[in-house]
Amino acid sequence: MEPSTSPTGIEVSNEEQVLEISWSDGHTSVYPLFGLRKNCPCVACRGGHDKMNTFEPEAFEIENPPLMNITNIKQVGNHAIQITWIDGHNAGMYGWETLRKLDPRLSQ
Ligand SMILES: [Zn+2]
Repeated sequence: MEPSTSPTGIEVSNEEQVLEISWSDGHTSVYPLFGLRKNCPCVACRGGHDKMNTFEPEAFEIENPPLMNITNIKQVGNHAIQITWIDGHNAGMYGWETLRKLDPRLSQ
């Protein structure tokens, strides 16, 4: 079965430095915030249009990463969320498919 790309819930904890997404297939993905910021899917963070689907899953595994709070999350249509980070960056549209693919537990 294909992993679900339909979220049923999203929760941010700046205190715990994680974003949690529950999916309709019952799986829950837990993303350390620093890794999520490093994997911002915008063109500037990815390093060019030809690298749009190149990510850095190893950024989720950094021990004691710098604090990276989320200040706002906005849903974009039915397919993505736009995250505003404490550093002011908000250009990344995190699509459900990208998020499911980035799931730190699946990348190990
Ligand atoms: Zn970015």
